Amino acid sequence: MRKFIVAGNWKMNTTVPEGVELAKAVVEKSKKLPANVELVVAPPFTHLYPVADVLKGSKVALSAQNCADHEKGAYTGEVAVNMLTSLGCQYTILGHSERRQYYGETDEKLVVKTQLALAAGLKVILCVGENLEEREAGKHFDVVTAQTKNVLYNFTAEDMKNVVIAYEPVWAIGTGKTATAAQAEEIHACIRNVIAEKFGAQVADDMTILYGGSCKPSNAKELFAEKDIDGGLIGGAALKADDFLAIALSF
Ligand code: PEP
Repeated sequence: MRKFIVAGNWKMNTTVPEGVELAKAVVEKSKKLPANVELVVAPPFTHLYPVADVLKGSKVALSAQNCADHEKGAYTGEVAVNMLTSLGCQYTILGHSERRQYYGETDEKLVVKTQLALAAGLKVILCVGENLEEREAGKHFDVVTAQTKNVLYNFTAEDMKNVVIAYEPVWAIGTGKTATAAQAEEIHACIRNVIAEKFGAQVADDMTILYGGSCKPSNAKELFAEKDIDGGLIGGAALKADDFLAIALSF
């Protein structure tokens, strides 16, 4: 059964007290949500512990925005997967374009991080997406196919039960420019085919594929109406509980 998910990536925003207040507002409003939609919030690492406390007993799941590519040890400034699970994280985002662009996150590194995350019992939200130059050169299908294969083809069909893919065209992230529903749908269908080729039709059909890139209450309904778009990874609009919940109510 395919799950619908709306996940909020807070990025490097809010102080800890502000983040706790935002989490409280999300929990309060999530009570109106239909049972088939899962809400996830991904605050900065510093916020995870107090936010985990706020989310206890609610329908809102907790995600990290990244994890280390080592299990433990002398890696100053890094956060290991068992640190995340020990405070109640259920997910981690991996391969966000900002990490690929500014922090040298490669597909090879993402394989290691995905291995560690899945082994620790974390679900992975793997981000893929082309930049503007690649789209203008007509390479978007190739880029997204390669990113998906390079990471996920190292895993098993069983592993796919704990993987969510987020298609985020880089040119649409934080720019106010959203992919049209048709543009997003054709990439989502392509990703589902890539999954089907390796893992079979059932695994592909069950895979949750999120859209991310300036998704907001005014465009979520149209995007989510597409048959291969199973929710959203939301940046800016996730910082306002009302907008975040309005997006989640757009199915
Ligand atoms: C994101 O960074 O994952 C994202 C989708 O950002 P925004 O919604 O702000 O474009």
